[in-house]
Amino acid sequence: MFLSQALSLMPRRALLEGPTPIQRLHRIEDALGLSSNGVRIYAKRDDLMSLGGGGNKLRKLEFLLGDAVAAGADTIIATGGRQSNFARLAAATAARLGLACELVLAPLVPRGGDEYDRNGNILLDDLFGARIHNLPAGVDPTLFAQDRFEELRLTGHTAYMATLGGSSPVGSLGYATCALEIETQSNDLGIDFSAVVVPNGSSGTQAGLVAGYRALGLDTTRVRSHSVLAPPASAISTTVERANAALTLLGFEASLSSNDVNLSGDQLGPGYGISTSAMVEAVRLMASREGLLLDPVYGGKAFAGLLADISAGRYAAGDDVLFIMTGGTPGLYAYATDFLDAVH
Ligand SMILES: *Cc1c(COP(=O)(O)O)cnc(C)c1O
Repeated sequence: MFLSQALSLMPRRALLEGPTPIQRLHRIEDALGLSSNGVRIYAKRDDLMSLGGGGNKLRKLEFLLGDAVAAGADTIIATGGRQSNFARLAAATAARLGLACELVLAPLVPRGGDEYDRNGNILLDDLFGARIHNLPAGVDPTLFAQDRFEELRLTGHTAYMATLGGSSPVGSLGYATCALEIETQSNDLGIDFSAVVVPNGSSGTQAGLVAGYRALGLDTTRVRSHSVLAPPASAISTTVERANAALTLLGFEASLSSNDVNLSGDQLGPGYGISTSAMVEAVRLMASREGLLLDPVYGGKAFAGLLADISAGRYAAGDDVLFIMTGGTPGLYAYATDFLDAVH
């Protein structure tokens, strides 16, 4: 079976307007000058979607909501960190589809204050009408969500659990679809991308792309990620596991092993949601040279990783490299001090 056919059999609610654009980042290339080593840099604008501010989680939610509606759900329960982009987009999607939404948010990042607790995604979650459960440290969000699921069931509701940043096998199908979309665009543009660069958090984005490329019979290591959450060995095994689960769901052989996953841990820094100076510089470069926004937790670190890879000579002159902009820009407002107080 072909990947496109296999995907078309899966329940899905359309949340995107169509393929997201690919644009060349000429001004970044110029800014790098000789140190660009003649590499051509492109951005795929997965931050450009109309619903809820957009971002990579909407691709996952297309399939998660398809699954939820097929299961007769009237409520979506999403879990994540306080500034979770997944939670924000689950809330926006529920608003669009007329479902209730409960967000179970945990303090995964050592930050606080009004900037972090009342701005960015948290503000938007509230505007989208979600019921927010702000958990204190030490309460397990998955167990809390399961309790809410049960309470809702006892009052006659059907909830759908969307955990792990939406990186379940079903959610990962969003990026298997994106692999197909990139291949189509690549043929139309006549550009053979030697690398597709993404952040890796809960791994569903890379897992979906890797599953998609394997199903298309293409080299999966062209998908290069920069881990922003787990140490490399564990991020690789999670990615392999999720990619194989996505392949199984689509009716393909679960044939991937750790050699098929290309991942770097170089940009993680002190940990998830903790700023690094390379991230601050990368966000500033993209904003000041292209007028485009990256987020501090994911895209900023991944773009810093791409810049480091280019200057280390990982890519050859004439290579075309595609960076996927995954959205998450509301997070900038929760990290204002890290930019304004950084020495620059
Ligand atoms: C969640 C997220 C990612 C990471 O995707 P995973 O599938 O969790 O690895 C990247 N960028 C943004 C903006 C995100 O919100």
